[in-house]
Amino acid sequence: MSFDLTGAKGAMTGQRYIESLQDGREVWLDGERIDDVTTHPAFSGIVHEMARIYDLQHTDELRDVMTFPSPVTDNRISYSYSLPTNYDELMARKRNSELWMQESFGQLGRTPDFCSSVVCGWYDVRDELDKLAPRLAGNAADFHRYCAENDIALTHAIGDPQVDRRSTTMGENVAPDNPWVGVGGYALENPDDDQATALKVTKEVTGGIVLKGAKQLATLAPLANECLVYLSATFAGRSQNEYVQWFSIPMNTPGLVTLCREPLSQNPGSYGHPFSQRFDEQDAMMYFNDVFVPWDHVMMLYDSDAATRLLGRVNVLAGYSSNIRLYERIRTFVAVATMLAEANEINEIRDVRDKLGELVSYVEMIRLAIRGMDADAHLTSGGVMVPGDGFALGIFAAQISKRVLDILQQIGGMELLAQPSENDLANRELRPYLDKIIGNGDYAATEKRVRLFRLAHDLCMSAFATRQEVYEYWHRGDVTRNRSNLYGRYDRGQVVERINKLFTKPM
Ligand SMILES: Cc1cc2nc3c(=O)[nH]c(=O)nc-3n(C[C@H](O)[C@H](O)[C@H](O)COP(=O)(O)OP(=O)(O)OC[C@H]3O[C@@H](n4cnc5c(N)ncnc54)[C@H](O)[C@@H]3O)c2cc1C
Repeated sequence: MSFDLTGAKGAMTGQRYIESLQDGREVWLDGERIDDVTTHPAFSGIVHEMARIYDLQHTDELRDVMTFPSPVTDNRISYSYSLPTNYDELMARKRNSELWMQESFGQLGRTPDFCSSVVCGWYDVRDELDKLAPRLAGNAADFHRYCAENDIALTHAIGDPQVDRRSTTMGENVAPDNPWVGVGGYALENPDDDQATALKVTKEVTGGIVLKGAKQLATLAPLANECLVYLSATFAGRSQNEYVQWFSIPMNTPGLVTLCREPLSQNPGSYGHPFSQRFDEQDAMMYFNDVFVPWDHVMMLYDSDAATRLLGRVNVLAGYSSNIRLYERIRTFVAVATMLAEANEINEIRDVRDKLGELVSYVEMIRLAIRGMDADAHLTSGGVMVPGDGFALGIFAAQISKRVLDILQQIGGMELLAQPSENDLANRELRPYLDKIIGNGDYAATEKRVRLFRLAHDLCMSAFATRQEVYEYWHRGDVTRNRSNLYGRYDRGQVVERINKLFTKPM
């Protein structure tokens, strides 16, 4: 085993998580390099939330829900890294996912439960990886064990920068003779053009590889321990092998540059933006400036066919985790929409109940789809019990991503926008007016109502709300590509055959 597990402490604690981020990583925000991401106001809210949930792993109430004894050390380790071998173990894994998603109201796309599942996916295809490159044999299994025993928090970067799409094609059905058309029908970098910005291996050196180039985006990057790098379906089909890599890299590796987007967490007051303040998980561009990656962190290299063929299996548990998050997110919309309707005493009006019912129909469809995935659970050739295919549910999520915001806006009305600040409420001169306008003369009711409408605003109108919506739409990849690919693999044959049979009969 290439990873030394002697000092591994098992399931993460909040304190250990915070200390793990104080490691000299190169994180930039608004033109400045950040010394300590854990104390910077852009990140302190989310860091606190992550630490709080990690600490739940060690409580009497939740220890057994969130962790289990390691099969190889004395540690208890997170279910996020479990490798279920039967249905009951898959359900135990699911309960931990549910816990993470409930604690974060479905607002965190990169709970550590998501990318840990990719590492379990790499483990699942370990035999195939071992066969592909004997010099990397054992890496997927060893890396999984290392992550599990240290409860590593991961992000992933799987796309090229948009600027690198030198395509003249527009989809799956065109340019079949174009050798650079990827799985999703995108033309990738022109091999004659050495200006390509996408990440590539520039050389092999003793002990590993050196890479240069960019990755489009990695959610949680400044707050993760390591970044998984591989290729999404759009980018897996490459004509040039040096662009194909599956590896992981510690976030403090020299040369790894993390460039943050504008934070959504910094708002005045303590309760005006309850979700943005807690759950702004940050999305950052990544640049690899001659970065060295040791062999033990490399899972696969240079094999475009394998990167394409194995991707589905690698993603399956992560997709499941994401769908559990989606369920909690839409449940949150139902709850907040109900509270708004009750606050305005419109909850018995049929038009309003129609909208509430529409939201519930989405939650129910998601719940039933997840149950369907459970029912279709099966053992892979790698010996891991995985849920059935949930690809279509991901497309459905993108289709309703905007609609759920609309419904909340339509139920909440004007007051979603016009709410006093904490300083307004604290001002003795203003407060009597505010109590009259907002609380119907009741001091306590004013405060409760302001807090509710502020929270709803954060869910459907704030900059954070838009980012969450955009995440839901895009994070599973280009929806157009996904729908096209879903259609492509859907078996239409049996019904077409029956209809053709019908046509053979006289009219
Ligand atoms: C909030 C958020 C968080 C994210 N987090 C992560 C993360 O953690 N890790 C990560 O790796 N990625 C992440 N992503 C990136 C995400 O995976 C991509 O946004 C998604 O794959 C779509 O790619 P794109 O944004 O480059 O859009 P594009 O693929 O450029 O698509 C934009 C539009 O152009 C069309 N288009 C572009 N090129 C072509 C072509 N050649 N042929 C036909 N149509 C084309 C598409 O159909 C689409 O309509 C995140 C994205 C968001 C918004």
